[in-house]
Amino acid sequence: MRKITVIKNGTIITPFKTIKNGVVIFEDKKITAVGKESDVKMPKEAKAIDASDKTVAPGFIDIHIHGGRGRDVMEVSYEAINELAKFVASHGTTAFLPTTVSASRGDLLRAVRAVKTVMERGTEGAEVLGVHLEGPYINLEKRGAHDAEYVRPPSLDEVDELLEVANRTIKIVTLAPEVNGSEELIKQLAKLGIVASIGHSNATYQEAMNAIELGVTHAAHTFNEMRSFHHREPGILGAVLVHDELTTELIPDNIHMHPVAMKLLVKTKGTNKVVLVTDAIQAAGMPNGKYKLGKQNVTVEKGVCRLESGELAGSTLTMDEAVRNTMKSVGTPLRTAIKMATINPAVAISVDKKKGSLEPGKDADIVIIDGEVNVYVTIVKGKVVYKV
Ligand code: FE
Repeated sequence: MRKITVIKNGTIITPFKTIKNGVVIFEDKKITAVGKESDVKMPKEAKAIDASDKTVAPGFIDIHIHGGRGRDVMEVSYEAINELAKFVASHGTTAFLPTTVSASRGDLLRAVRAVKTVMERGTEGAEVLGVHLEGPYINLEKRGAHDAEYVRPPSLDEVDELLEVANRTIKIVTLAPEVNGSEELIKQLAKLGIVASIGHSNATYQEAMNAIELGVTHAAHTFNEMRSFHHREPGILGAVLVHDELTTELIPDNIHMHPVAMKLLVKTKGTNKVVLVTDAIQAAGMPNGKYKLGKQNVTVEKGVCRLESGELAGSTLTMDEAVRNTMKSVGTPLRTAIKMATINPAVAISVDKKKGSLEPGKDADIVIIDGEVNVYVTIVKGKVVYKV
C-alpha cells in the first residue's frame, strides 16, 4: 500500500524560497510535492502532520562531527554511531558524516569499517552518508586537539588500504597541503571524487593555491588551526577566504570564532559557500565533566571542551543551536542560516541531487521547528525518527 504523508499549515523554507501556508507531501522515502496548499493537488488518503505556527525545513546535514551524548566515533562500533545518529536527529540533523581523528592505521581502518557497517544496516536516527577522515595527514604545528603521536605524512600504501576498506564510503579527507606527499594524495582524492579538504594547516598562500589547483574544494573549520592572515602573506586563510572554488566550514558555537570573524567569513565567502558544522564531541548533550576525544582526555566546563594543555577540543554544539547562533551572531535571517545547514553541505559533498532541500524527487529528510529553532519533528527518508 502507498504510504502518503502531508505536512500542512506551516511555513516552508525550501531553502531557496519561503512559502507561507505551504504543504510538503511525501510518499514512502521521497518528497512528491512542495507548494502553497491552494496550488498543490492534495491526495485523497494521507496521514497528516499539522505544522501550524511552525517552520518546515530540510533536515540539517552535519559534515564534521566526532560524537555526542556520550558516544565517540572512534569507539568504532555500530552501537556508538547508531546512538549518535539518534542524538543528532533529536537536534534536527537528518544526515551526517561521522568524523575520525588522527589515529593509528589499525584504528582508522576499524573506524572506516564501522561506518561502512552502519551505512549497510541503517540507523534509528539520522542517515550516515560516509566518513570524514580528519587527519592524520595534517601539520603537527596546527594539530589542535589531534594526538601528536598519530599525526603523520600521507603514505600512499596506507591511503590505498583505507580507500579499499572504505569502498566509496570516505566522503572527505581533511589534510595539510604543505606536508610531504600531500600533492599525490590530493590528486588521488580528486580522481576518485572524494572531497579533498584543507585544514589543520600552516600552508602559505602559494602552497594553498597549488592545492586548490590540484583539486582541493573544501576547507575544514575555517580560521581554526590555520596559519593566520597577514597582509603580505595571506596564507591558507587568505586563499580560503577569497577563492570561490572552496566551500568552507564554520563552527558557530561562539567559542571557536568571535562573531566578527564569523561575519567576515560569511561576507567574504557569500551565503552559498559557508557550511555550518558542529565539530561536536561525545560531551555534546551531556553535563560538564571529563570526556574523551579519541584517546585524549577532554575537560568540559560551561560547555567548552579543552585538552589538559588548554587547547580547544571540538564542541558541544548541535545543529539547531548552530542555526540559532548564526542568526544571532552573524545577523542572517532564518532562511539563510538554514541554507548553510542544508543545501550548502549537500553541495559540498555532492549529495545535492538527493538531499539538502525540499523539492519533489528528493529524499524526505525534513525537520519541523519553531521560530527559536527548537526541533519538534525530525523525519529521515519519510520516517519520523524524533518527535517532541
Ligand atoms: Fe579539527
